[in-house]
Amino acid sequence: IDSTHSKDSGTAVSNCSSLEPDVFKVAILGDKGVGKTSLTNQFMTSEFVAFENDQDVNDSESERHVTVLLNSEESTLDIVDKDLDKHELSDGTFDAFAVVYSITDRVSYQSAVDILYDLRHELSIKDKPAIMIANKIDLVRKRKVSKEEARSVAKQYNCKYCETSAALNHHVDELLVGILSQIRLNKTPGLQ
Ligand code: GDP
Repeated sequence: IDSTHSKDSGTAVSNCSSLEPDVFKVAILGDKGVGKTSLTNQFMTSEFVAFENDQDVNDSESERHVTVLLNSEESTLDIVDKDLDKHELSDGTFDAFAVVYSITDRVSYQSAVDILYDLRHELSIKDKPAIMIANKIDLVRKRKVSKEEARSVAKQYNCKYCETSAALNHHVDELLVGILSQIRLNKTPGLQ
């Protein structure tokens, strides 16, 4: 039995393929302090990450890359975490929008709703997946926004809703996989 395998062989197999993984761009939006950096950092430790490229030369503070293995297929997500103007949001660069707020902060929730309004109505981006992320659910006793309220608003804007705790790494894997699934579904004609 060859003990040099496991991770290395996985990488080698994926490199044998002539096809590079698809690269999708995801904008992570929301007020400062809601946990965008923490969530992105947790994505890098997910069990779905195809191989560890923790110090990618192309990574910068505002753009991180993570290659995810889902349904035997690799895709790279470029997670962009910076202030984006309306032109950058609507010029077709992004494949998905992750809009984060903190359940402890109603102002951040209102900002998230405003962002969804801008995306769907003002910018008329109706054909790209958007996901509303209620973060910091570990802070149960400080909750200021109910699940029911946020979920119904998310539905209004035709976007998925999920609750996470970046601090406890709770539902972060599901979020990562959910974003990629939504993008793939959106790219598959006739499957929506
Ligand atoms: P960003 O400005 O949106 O990138 O937010 P950060 O990721 O820098 O997080 C802001 C603060 O919130 C930091 O002190 C984090 O440790 C904290 N934080 C982020 N996510 C969570 C969470 O899920 N639960 C708790 N309790 N704190 C969190």
